[in-house]
Order: sequence, then C-alpha cells, then structure tokens
Amino acid sequence: MTSQHTVAVLIDHADGPLHSPVRELLTIARELGHPVAVSFTPVSDEARRDLSTLGAEELVIVQLDASHHLTPVAAEGLAAAVTDIGADIVLASTTFENREIVALAARQLGAGLVADARPELTTDGKIVAFKRVFAGTWDVWAEFSTGIAFFTVRANTVQASEIDPVQFAERTIQVASSSRAKAARLEAREYHPGHGEAGPALAEAAYVVAGGRGTLGDFEPVHDLADALGGAVGATRDAVDEGWVDHDAQIGQTGVTVAPRVYIGAGISGAPHHRGGMQASQTIIAVNTDPETPLFEIADFAVVGDLADVLPQAARAIREYRTRK
Ligand SMILES: Cc1cc2nc3c(=O)[nH]c(=O)nc-3n(C[C@H](O)[C@H](O)[C@H](O)COP(=O)(O)OP(=O)(O)OC[C@H]3O[C@@H](n4cnc5c(N)ncnc54)[C@H](O)[C@@H]3O)c2cc1C
Repeated sequence: MTSQHTVAVLIDHADGPLHSPVRELLTIARELGHPVAVSFTPVSDEARRDLSTLGAEELVIVQLDASHHLTPVAAEGLAAAVTDIGADIVLASTTFENREIVALAARQLGAGLVADARPELTTDGKIVAFKRVFAGTWDVWAEFSTGIAFFTVRANTVQASEIDPVQFAERTIQVASSSRAKAARLEAREYHPGHGEAGPALAEAAYVVAGGRGTLGDFEPVHDLADALGGAVGATRDAVDEGWVDHDAQIGQTGVTVAPRVYIGAGISGAPHHRGGMQASQTIIAVNTDPETPLFEIADFAVVGDLADVLPQAARAIREYRTRK
C-alpha cells in the first residue's frame, strides 16, 4: 500500500553533515510516507547531499524573527511549518530542547505526542507509537485520536539507510513569533561535546569516571579525572539526552555495561536503570551533594560534596602521586 502520510522531520544542526539521529529520522520518515525536512537554520551543502540520499522530498527553511534556541519561538515555527506543509506526522530526535519544542507545538495544534517512541504503520496504514516501558517488561502500541501525530525518537532506534539521490524541492517560510514566545528567557551554557582524547574503550576500561545531570553540562572535571586515571568517561542517559556527551558513553540498561576495577559516579543519583550497567564494578565511588542519594547505598566510598570541587582535587592528587612514584 502506498502511504499518503506527509512526515515533517525536524533537522537539528544543518551546518555540516546531518547528525546520525536525524539520518535515522529520515529513514523512518521514508518508510512512513513523504519526508519533508524542516530547518530553523541555513542548510549546508553536506546536509543537502544527505537530505538527497536519505530521501527528503522537500526542504522547508523556517525563518524566525527571534532565536530558535528559545523553545517557545521554535515551537511556534514548527507548528507553522507543520500546518504549511500539511504534515500529519512530525518527528524530532530526543533532546531536552526538542521535547519542549514538540510538546509546545503539539499543544498549539491540538495534536497528540508520544515521547521516545518508534512510529509504525498498521496494516491499514494508520500511524501508531510503539514504546517499551517499565524497564522493558511491557510493549505498548498507542493509537492517536488526533489528526496530527508528534513523536520524539531516540537515537539508535533504527539503522539509517541511504537510497539513490533524489531531487528535493525547497522553500522558505517566514514566521512571526508571538510576544509571549519572544519573552522566554535564554540561558546559555558552555557545551563540552567531548575531548576526543585517545582513551580506553568504555566497556573495557579499568577506571571509569561517569557524570550525570549534576554536572550541569560541564563534563570538564569528569574528563580531567578520567585522564588522570588513564580511564574512560561514562554518563547517565539524562546527560546523553541533554547532548552533553555522545550516546556511546551511556552506562546502564539501555547503554553499555561496565565492570571496571574502579567506577566513580559524579552527580549521578543511582537510578536502577543506571545501576544495572555498573553495579558489578569492583569498587564504587560516588560523589554527590545529596547524602541521601541512592547511589551511596551501593558505594564503597561515598563523598558528599560538589563534584566541581571534589573531582579536580582528586585528579590533582592522583597526578602528584604518579609523579612521586
Ligand atoms: C526504560 C528506561 C531506560 C533507561 N536506561 C538508562 C540507562 O541505560 N542509563 C542511565 O543512566 N539511565 C537510564 N534511564 C534513566 C534513569 O531512570 C535516570 O533518569 C537517570 O539515570 C538519571 O540520571 P542522573 O543520575 O544523571 O540524573 P538525576 O537523577 O537528576 O541525578 C542528578 C544527581 O546529581 C546530584 N548533584 C546535583 N548537583 C551536584 C553537584 N554539583 N555535585 C555533585 N552532585 C550533584 C543530585 O543530588 C542528584 O543525585 C532509563 C530510563 C528508562 C525509563
């Protein structure tokens, strides 16, 4: 059956080649119907080549009159684009920013939204959201009772695949933001996507230093301590979802399982999903400002303190010890 669905795909980061989560979204969109790429920023030549080999049928560039980093502004832009395109399915990769954008846009359009789900078509061509819940014990398929279905889709949901390059149409739409959207506050934060040093592979490292939401996005002390130990950097899923570190660094039920000689968890609460991937570590050290944090329950050493103070001191002490030896 030929699908009549029109699928808007939100393109993050169009200034170089498309990122792999967006490549996956376009692959999914192709299977669901007619993919239309939506970008808030100019699109590079590399990204255009990717759009072509990933089967985008159209590119819509949304020109906003305020920063697209303001999620209410981006949401109004996305809602306008979806209406303009006539899309009945909207896909965005799972980031905290996108979750806000799609939630606000879906609300504006009176549409349904399922977060972190895989879109599927029923045999009669209806769109449903597949989701595995309760630590993988239940599979859920949700139907939409609204005309438009919004999804956020996690990275690695499918393997991106290319096709012969296609020609796609392109146009620009202008969207005027409401004064309410423009009044949103923008908080800039330094971004450390990773240092690219050669270190041991996470699953094999003897020392693992993992950071969580308590880092507030500053992974510098985590990298520095891992570097001092000759170890690898790990992270919680929340830190990965924030875009602070690559998915490869995720430890836990839906990430890598590690069992190093020493695991140091900094700014990590110790949710069961994370513990499942590290509790076999020989020595567990936890650094947390909250003395009641669950990770302390399984830790051999619990350090109550701010990781921004504790980790640099530990790294310094280890380097001094090593130079003395
Ligand atoms: C199906 C499913 C699968 C999942 N799979 C995984 C998985 O594979 N891996 C995973 O990690 N999670 C997974 N999760 C998510 C998991 O449930 C938790 O939400 C996540 O692990 C919490 O991450 P966190 O510890 O970074 O954040 P939080 O729970 O928000 O904890 C942050 C911690 O930082 C502390 N803190 C704050 N500031 C500081 C500071 N300055 N210094 C020191 N400490 C500070 C706080 O006290 C808090 O304890 C999964 C969830 C689901 C539903």
